[in-house]
Amino acid sequence: MSASDCTRVFEKLSEYLDRELPPSDCVSLERHIQGCGRCVEFVESVKQSVALIKDVDASENLGPMPEDVKADLRAAFERMAGEAKSKL
Ligand SMILES: [Zn+2]
Repeated sequence: MSASDCTRVFEKLSEYLDRELPPSDCVSLERHIQGCGRCVEFVESVKQSVALIKDVDASENLGPMPEDVKADLRAAFERMAGEAKSKL
């Protein structure tokens, strides 16, 4: 598994979690993640952050995720992706 595959996962993960990624891309992403300890770790940390942000959101507002929450999520994601890439 090459480092460039991991970089691709990091870059696409926010789209993946937002369900904006085409199904064929999701499959190749999931296939890579399953065989890569580094990406498993990264995905778990992102999912935890996403869950935290969404929990806060759900307790106050049952509608769609507000734009400012989405922006927070994206900023948190980009910070983690930057950290993860620097460790490659
Ligand atoms: Zn990987």
